[in-house]
Order: sequence, then C-alpha cells, then structure tokens
Amino acid sequence: MSRMKNFESMDEVERKARALLEERGVTMDDIAELVYFLQSKYHPALERSECLENVDRVLSKREVQNTVLTAIELDILAEEGKIQEPLLRILRDDEGLYGVDEVLALSIVNVYGSIGFTNYGYIDKLKPGILESLNDKSSGKVHTFLDDIVGAIAAAASSRLAHRAANTE
Ligand code: MG
Repeated sequence: MSRMKNFESMDEVERKARALLEERGVTMDDIAELVYFLQSKYHPALERSECLENVDRVLSKREVQNTVLTAIELDILAEEGKIQEPLLRILRDDEGLYGVDEVLALSIVNVYGSIGFTNYGYIDKLKPGILESLNDKSSGKVHTFLDDIVGAIAAAASSRLAHRAANTE
C-alpha cells in the first residue's frame, strides 16, 4: 500500500523542503519513529506505516513546507557564519532563552489542532530518537531550528493520527 506522495507530483517548494530535511540528516522514518513514540501507548495496534503516512500528510502542507525552508536556511547560514553578531553566536550556541526557534515551530504544531501542542511539549522535553542526536552540540553542526521543526512535524502528525483514530472508533 503506497499512499505516499510521489516526487513528480510535488512543486518546487515541497521538493526543496523534503530534500533539505534529508540533507540535514533527518529521514521521514526518523520522524515516523517519533510519532510511534508519542502514539503507540494509545493505539496498541499502531503500525510504522501509519505513522509514516501521517508524517507525509503533514509535509504536504504549504505552511509546514514554508516553515521548514525558513528554519533550515537559518541553521545553514549560522553554520556558514553568514549571520551578524550577536545573533550568530546565539544561534551557534543554541542559547536556551532565545526561543524564536520554538515560536517558529508552533506554526507547524497547530495545523491539526491543539493536542499537537501537548505532544510538542512532551517530545521537546524528552528528546527521544533523532532529537537526541540533533541536540548533540559536539557535531559542529547548527541544528538550533531543525530540532524544533522535527519535533513539531512529529507532534502535528500525532494529532492527525489521533483525530483520525477517534473518528473511526
Ligand atoms: Mg531549538
């Protein structure tokens, strides 16, 4: 069952958003794994493929793609030193009180309703799976924005999954 979107049917923005995630080391399976982490205790028969499909649907939304493009661009610019001080230092250090990364991620969190917000807070605190490696600051990479948008995509996909499960039960 391949209900996943195929590359040919996507426009430039969607292709670039999906490609950037991969280039920055985040696969759709990584995000699906986070969805599984969030939802498997509520849906015992939950399958990985269902998680993946919900991630795919979230990534099909324009407002999500726009946020992904913006967030990753800022990470890359910071990594290349192409941002002015003091913002450059703040982004490179991933300063805890900066907070704009989290605010940007909120534009993804709520696309499938407010339970996304709860999921996002939970996953941001525990940092399971890919989120743990993205937070490893010894890599020399800047993932100040990426970790939040990955968590937000997983949270939104979880809400979509939960809403749909509730409608079929
Ligand atoms: Mg962050």
